Amino acid sequence: MVARTDRTTDTGLQEELLQARRGTAFFARKLNELTGADLDGDSLLPGWTRRHITAHIGYNARAIARLVEWAATGVETPMYPSPEARNQEISFGSTLPPIALRNLFDHSAVHLSVEWRDLPEAAWSHEVRTAQGRTVPASETVWMRTREVWIHAVDLDNGATFNDIPAPVLERLLKDITGAWKTRRTDQGLVVKVADSGLTFGDTTSASPTVVSGPLAAIVEWAAGRGNGGVTATGPGVGANGTVPAAPTWI
Ligand code: ZN
Repeated sequence: MVARTDRTTDTGLQEELLQARRGTAFFARKLNELTGADLDGDSLLPGWTRRHITAHIGYNARAIARLVEWAATGVETPMYPSPEARNQEISFGSTLPPIALRNLFDHSAVHLSVEWRDLPEAAWSHEVRTAQGRTVPASETVWMRTREVWIHAVDLDNGATFNDIPAPVLERLLKDITGAWKTRRTDQGLVVKVADSGLTFGDTTSASPTVVSGPLAAIVEWAAGRGNGGVTATGPGVGANGTVPAAPTWI
């Protein structure tokens, strides 16, 4: 018998799955607003058209589904054979006719959703390895997909903004990004403050830090390297005309 609902009964995980599926539906909505000709247009990512974004999101779902299958079967199936293979796949996918690109997105998203739905409770804690070499429980695949679909929906550059992304997703993104900076020690002398929430990240022990602050969505947009609208900065890192410094690179 085919299960119609997620097999996991973990309410936290169910909530995360909802966030990933909402993000996928949001990406689908923005993609469906684009004509075939629109797909040739630039995305927010340098060197990538909307075709590249769409191909990447499709192949990303397949790659994450491989991790879920790995967790289910114990048979090691990495996301991609190599970083080069991943990039080649995206380049190839970007040349597909619009209908094929849309099918790639649709089918891969449904496939991943079914893999999640059918993953037995116990297998969600099985460890798998990401393309970056991190060992994570299968449950982490939900967040890996969530951040991809929400951010790349904005990258399609046809009207989605960080304000469309749910606050819990934004907060977790900001923790990921500032955590990556901390690991690489690229956050020295930099403090990030979210207005109205009291959330503070970065080099909080610095005596005279550059402080970048703004509403949550604007701060995450800045931290993800997607723009600096709505954020302000004080301190030594501020440019001559009060320019907000660029955020350290994230990925
Ligand atoms: Zn991506």
